[in-house]
Amino acid sequence: MTENLKSESCKCFDEYLAAVREKIVNNLGDNAIDTKVEWSNTTWILGGDYAPVNPQVKFEYRKIKKGGEIAKGITKDCITVSANFCCFCGRKYQKADK
Ligand SMILES: [Zn+2]
Repeated sequence: MTENLKSESCKCFDEYLAAVREKIVNNLGDNAIDTKVEWSNTTWILGGDYAPVNPQVKFEYRKIKKGGEIAKGITKDCITVSANFCCFCGRKYQKADK
């Protein structure tokens, strides 16, 4: 089954990142060395067909304490939602948890 997933997988994120890396390195020219280029907010999930980068939803709120008092500070957090389709080629991901 893993072989099936691999053969049906696309390499869009890898290919796009390689193209972006080349442009960045070319634009930097001789003014930079050891340039590191990578996706932000990558997700790595073992044994599944998933997008390596997924949208994040940020949220913030004010906590209500046990006595009903409202906290002065803002609590900030975020969650990541997983995409069902490749954003480059539109291929549907075959998730392990079908
Ligand atoms: Zn793709």
